[in-house]
Amino acid sequence: MKILMILLLPFYLYATTIALQILGSGGPEFSMRASSSYLIWVDGKARVMVDMGGGSFLRFTQSKAEIKDLKVIALTHLHIDHSADLPLFMKAGFFTERKEKLPILGTSSKGDFPDIYTFLTRFFGAEGVYAYMQDILTPKSESFQIEGILRDQKHREMQLGVIKIGSVGVHHGPVPSLAYAFEIAGKKIVFTGDTSGDGHALVELAKGADYLVAHHAISQHAGKLARQLHMTPAKIGQIAKAAGVKHLVLSHRMKRTYGKENESEALIRAYYKGDIIWAEDMMKIQLTRE
Ligand SMILES: [Zn+2]
Repeated sequence: MKILMILLLPFYLYATTIALQILGSGGPEFSMRASSSYLIWVDGKARVMVDMGGGSFLRFTQSKAEIKDLKVIALTHLHIDHSADLPLFMKAGFFTERKEKLPILGTSSKGDFPDIYTFLTRFFGAEGVYAYMQDILTPKSESFQIEGILRDQKHREMQLGVIKIGSVGVHHGPVPSLAYAFEIAGKKIVFTGDTSGDGHALVELAKGADYLVAHHAISQHAGKLARQLHMTPAKIGQIAKAAGVKHLVLSHRMKRTYGKENESEALIRAYYKGDIIWAEDMMKIQLTRE
């Protein structure tokens, strides 16, 4: 045993550490919770940011994450409570030393919703509302820069250094929406984004995930319209079970679900027997040893 410990010690010391942090656990209401936003930390640096809802700018600063360390921002969809703080990050980035282009993943267009390129251009293009910041979209500029990368509704995969990113379209009423899977050093973290949970794409993407961050925005008694936008607790349980995820994080907590946590948990437990965690702002979950 002692010899084994000594042999394994170098791997133990240099093993990649990964943490999942909730920046915003709330929805679009007036609330003490920030709106949807998450970080994945790798070896003590925030490398992945998912969604940038209202309040995420302040929470990001509180988390001690730094924009220079980010490898990618992934937007699940362009509802306000998932994207509204983006301009704040862009302006603050301008005051940092970051020169590496920051990729921002987002959806294709549908109905009232622009694709990711149009979304960024309407903010920062020459005709945009923040045209004074147009240098961030200009490749020749010396200052802080971003780059939109479109992920359509098909299952897509890309590799960014050690980070493997899977994405697939999920049903969220009329809104083009994506779920994302991040695989780093043998760990897999999946974000459902907002979705009704209809279809099989999400289960496929989430297969064997260490953590599934699911949005618990409605109770089981929600009306038809809300069910076309969000998963019921039973639906979350079915998806977590079918995907065989090890831990389930319930986020996007809205006021209509407050006080119904036990009821929801029982409905989820009817299908899913694994670990359940209720998200709180700033909660940081270590996937591996610190
Ligand atoms: Zn939404």
